[in-house]
Amino acid sequence: MKINLLGATGSIGTQCLDICRSHPDITPNSLTAGRNYKALAMYAREFSVRTVCIADESLYSALKTELSDTDTRVLCGREGLCEAASDKNADMTVNAIVGAAGLLPTEAALKSGSKVALANKETLVAGGSYIMGLAKRKGIHIIPIDSEHSAIFQSLQGSRDPHGELRKIILTASGGPFFGKKREELKNIDPEKALAHPNWSMGSKITIDSATMMNKGFELIEACHLFGVSPKQVEVVIHRQSILHSAVEFSDGAVIGQLGVPDMRIPIQYALTFPKRLECPAQPLSLTACGDLTFEEPDTETFGCLKSAMKAADAIDTTAGAIINGANEVLVSAFLNGKADFWDITDGVAAALENVPAVPADTVEHILEGDRAGREFARAFLSK
Ligand code: NDP
Repeated sequence: MKINLLGATGSIGTQCLDICRSHPDITPNSLTAGRNYKALAMYAREFSVRTVCIADESLYSALKTELSDTDTRVLCGREGLCEAASDKNADMTVNAIVGAAGLLPTEAALKSGSKVALANKETLVAGGSYIMGLAKRKGIHIIPIDSEHSAIFQSLQGSRDPHGELRKIILTASGGPFFGKKREELKNIDPEKALAHPNWSMGSKITIDSATMMNKGFELIEACHLFGVSPKQVEVVIHRQSILHSAVEFSDGAVIGQLGVPDMRIPIQYALTFPKRLECPAQPLSLTACGDLTFEEPDTETFGCLKSAMKAADAIDTTAGAIINGANEVLVSAFLNGKADFWDITDGVAAALENVPAVPADTVEHILEGDRAGREFARAFLSK
């Protein structure tokens, strides 16, 4: 099987390449990155890929020079990403880009008729109604990579009528590094503290999203789109150990969940090999070694990003998701660069949702406009 792997140099991308190394019949066809052209060139050589694309156009020549003695085709920019995403030489496109930059490549892959495995949750947060509609028209089932959504997807496999039988989704959350604390106790948080996630090693943006719980809010929206449920059917439960990756409750009260060690290679590989299961390089789970498993309610007053996402989910067919996602990207980036306080993220997202008007998210233009307006609002919020 051949894959177009977008975001190949990131946390999910490199773990996906690990799976390709373990299963040589899964081979990358095209690889993309944002700016890291050296790593991209290295992987292109290792896997002799057909196409590479660097999103930052100013690095095109540097990447071309790195690969000048190979047959690999070199692309750049947004158009290049969409071309790499829709390269028909592959059987599936894996989108592991971070942020709303993943939206158009997802669209391009679906339009080309490619199967899509999606880690890039921002695609669905910003443009879920449009993207799911497109996937439906094309007869493509988007396979989730996010561990929670993979767990839900796996838990639903035994049901012959998932829509009729599914009562609710139990979306588990580690709670991030600051769980159990109140806002007054969480002053002067620097990026180093916020990046110290208790269970998962991930890219910096999603790690900050986990610390603010924006990530769980995004996952709630993602779950509504992927599984066709209303926000009221999604219960967020804090589960500090990240062993139960999420569960579903059926109409008879039976709860089926998926457990495993917190290792993204399991859901990534399942998305690639579905419906088959193959050996995976991840450690097996020892239930006796993992100790107590605990479940608690989230604190949506302290972690206001989760509350904002719940409000945005109530307007799921509008650009509310694109607005909060765009604002969040600007605020997180400012926090990581020492230009914003940790709580500016929570407050800026809530203010963006309240002040930027949302419209139906039925076209890509509307979604991109929502994203732009959310970013502009967040910049103005920070400059006050
Ligand atoms: P990383 O930051 O580690 O990697 C992001 C990838 O996207 C890199 O290849 C990066 O290239 C590329 N990229 C960055 N900006 C752009 C851009 N503007 N255009 C095109 N490509 C770009 O992120 P993660 O791997 O952690 O996350 C990727 C996605 O998967 C996110 O949506 C995240 O929410 C989701 N996810 C991640 C999990 C994890 O465990 N990491 C778990 C579940 C979901 P470069 O290296 O050159 O910057």
